[in-house]
Amino acid sequence: MKGSAAHPRVAAGKTPPPEGLRAVLFDLDDTLYDHAYALNHALRSLWREEPAFRHRTLDAARAEYARLLEEFHLRLMAGKITENEARVRRFQALFRWAGEEISLRDARVKALTYRRLYLEHQRPVPGAVALVRRLAGSVRLGIVSNNRTRGQLDKLRSIGLTGLFDVLITSEEVGAAKPDPEIFQAALDGLKVARDEVVMVGDSWPSDVLGARAAGLTAVWFNRGAFPNPDPSLAVELTSLRPASSALEAIFLAYRLEED
Ligand SMILES: [Mg+2]
Repeated sequence: MKGSAAHPRVAAGKTPPPEGLRAVLFDLDDTLYDHAYALNHALRSLWREEPAFRHRTLDAARAEYARLLEEFHLRLMAGKITENEARVRRFQALFRWAGEEISLRDARVKALTYRRLYLEHQRPVPGAVALVRRLAGSVRLGIVSNNRTRGQLDKLRSIGLTGLFDVLITSEEVGAAKPDPEIFQAALDGLKVARDEVVMVGDSWPSDVLGARAAGLTAVWFNRGAFPNPDPSLAVELTSLRPASSALEAIFLAYRLEED
């Protein structure tokens, strides 16, 4: 994280933010950091190489893995298991789902292989770095993430975004997770801005959009999968972060619409 804020300034050639907009908050996973991309690569390799999965489609394995990821993530965030236990037991459960009982020791080997493949395919969401760079310097920037602080710092580092954010707010640190307004309030406090001076950008409708709205913030829904919009009156929609100028315009438009 960078040090205390410089006075907001607009670099030459940049689109200035609308008057009153002082900060933009981002979700991290699958908004700036391409978790889905790394996960898909790692899981596809495992699925291809493991005989246990021969009667299961890749889509089915992906759906089950997503379910297990969420289940074990909740246990981890509740402090019921460690990160390593969550990883190992997730793979034991995945193999059980595929019809094979494996030992914890074997599950650990699978988890390590998956982890290596996942880390090899880390990347930013296309357009994310350019967008954040365009915003940096003209508004304050924060991350609001339902995850653990250390892991999120590693992800920011892996995609080259360390140093551009004023605050990193995690559910681990705050003790409340999106959509709870408390975690958004922690971001406002950290940035020393008011809720009507902020736009929140995120890919999760329930956590990022409904959470931001409940906290009184303007929301932009990053709808990369182009899913049906549950309620267009609640958030401006963005299906890609490229080109940065269009994504920037959508964020600024969302704020202006709120002001009207
Ligand atoms: Mg997300």
